[in-house]
Amino acid sequence: MKKKRLPFIVGAVISVALIVSIFLVYNYKNEQISNASDEQQTTEPNKKDSPATEEPKKTVDNPVKPEQKPDENGYLPNQTLPTEPTYINGILLANKIYPLPSTFAPEENPEAGQALDKMLTAAKQQGFDLVAFSGYRSFDYQTTLYNNYVNRDGQAAADRYSARPGYSEHQTGLAFDIGERGKDNLWLTEEFGETPAGQWLMKYAQDYGFILRFPKNKEDITGYMYESWHYRYVGIDIAKEIKKQNITLEEYLGVK
Ligand SMILES: [Zn+2]
Repeated sequence: MKKKRLPFIVGAVISVALIVSIFLVYNYKNEQISNASDEQQTTEPNKKDSPATEEPKKTVDNPVKPEQKPDENGYLPNQTLPTEPTYINGILLANKIYPLPSTFAPEENPEAGQALDKMLTAAKQQGFDLVAFSGYRSFDYQTTLYNNYVNRDGQAAADRYSARPGYSEHQTGLAFDIGERGKDNLWLTEEFGETPAGQWLMKYAQDYGFILRFPKNKEDITGYMYESWHYRYVGIDIAKEIKKQNITLEEYLGVK
């Protein structure tokens, strides 16, 4: 009798183990399915962060208004980077008050890239050989860049012309620094804005969906000194409206 019992016990143990593992696998799969759909729900509206003019992709009607006042460099004291980027009426905002998550890495926005190509082609037909010498910048790259500037010029000076990591519009994939090919000496200078090429950009950028992001005499609103070279894609309709009203993106979005 005893000898016959052993295979029975082994059989029973194996059966129980099988049932338990089937149950575990089933549960695990179910969990994965529900995780996947959770993720879809939270990231879907975010996926297309294009500033397309038709349907707003994601809207934050009331972005959290900062309670503190910005310091002399335009930043909020002790601010930490958020976990989500700020969209207002579908427009992605990145500035010293509304920074981006360190994990936000959309790469260059394809719609903006195409619009840029169109604009540069049109400029060339008018005899201006423009080039975007800086576009999408990752969080890590901005970190390196900013730290180099701080080491060279000190933090207060660096804060006037370079964004701290997480605060750069270049991290959105929607901003480009533009200059004339072969005239590198005028890149990143105010003088570029005085050249015929710089003037052409200023006059026609909105027709391609771009705005001069940091205009003259708007430093207190944008947080940056005049940058004749920095253009931001917002879509043609909004760009034309901003140009027509002679305002900044912050004013257009109602955060200033
Ligand atoms: Zn720039």
